[in-house]
Amino acid sequence: MSEVATTLRRAADLLPCVSDTPRLDAEILLAHALGVERNVLLLDTARFAVPDGLVALIERRLAHEPIAYIIGYRDFWTVRIGVGPGVLVPRADSETLLAVAVQHFGDAAPRRILDLGTGPGTLLLAALDQWPDATGLGIDASATALDFARTNAAALGLAGRAELRAGDWAAGIDGQFDLILCNPPYVRADEALMPDVARYEPGAALFAGGDGLNDYRRLVPQLDGLLTPGGIAAVEIGWQQAAAVTGLAVAAGLVAELHRDLGGRDRMLLLRAVGGDDNKSLGFGVKAV
Ligand code: GLN
Repeated sequence: MSEVATTLRRAADLLPCVSDTPRLDAEILLAHALGVERNVLLLDTARFAVPDGLVALIERRLAHEPIAYIIGYRDFWTVRIGVGPGVLVPRADSETLLAVAVQHFGDAAPRRILDLGTGPGTLLLAALDQWPDATGLGIDASATALDFARTNAAALGLAGRAELRAGDWAAGIDGQFDLILCNPPYVRADEALMPDVARYEPGAALFAGGDGLNDYRRLVPQLDGLLTPGGIAAVEIGWQQAAAVTGLAVAAGLVAELHRDLGGRDRMLLLRAVGGDDNKSLGFGVKAV
């Protein structure tokens, strides 16, 4: 067995106390320390020597630091999103919003896209990569997040189509959008999160009051006026929040359609104006699909 293969096995044996994916974490950290992609490492481990920097990376992971902060990025949908302290790491669950929007638009495409709470640009940049003729606006309250988002937009060649601006949800936004994306904070203040999240990721991007609904209460009523006729909003929700957020949407004159993530959990609501270009909805409440 090559030296690298042996090291991978030993690293993977150390990491189960902090990770459900110890082998994967070990591979990612070793590839990062070597400055190569993981698949290149795995194709032929014998080509590489164990780099000095690996131990420090493993120690950081053993202290629960998220892999994405250690290596500086997370791949999301079709784009690589640079992240670090101060921004939420993109989650695979949030790809549900893109998947549902892609299915919704089919051969058509949204021209104007708004991402409320864009963080490091996650949903906006994925959407702009998906629809090459679209332009978009990303809003965030955090200057740190906007710095990451601007750097990411430039790195992806999307800066010319992505405007990134400080803001308080939709306050002061003019114009209308064919697609609004939003992954707001929605965690209950008393919810116990895993140490990776609780110790490292920004609370402002996660927590939203005693019931986790504070931000939805503010932003859901703002959506109707920002949608083009036939436009949709794809809003991420906590897996137990479908009924509550649907209630807020209905009160704001919207129809909500519930979608689940790949793990089968309620994950997003597709919102449209009542009586909008909508021949699929039932015109009331939740429709699970
Ligand atoms: N789903 C995320 C988590 O569990 C929460 C993201 C959010 O609040 N928008 O950490």
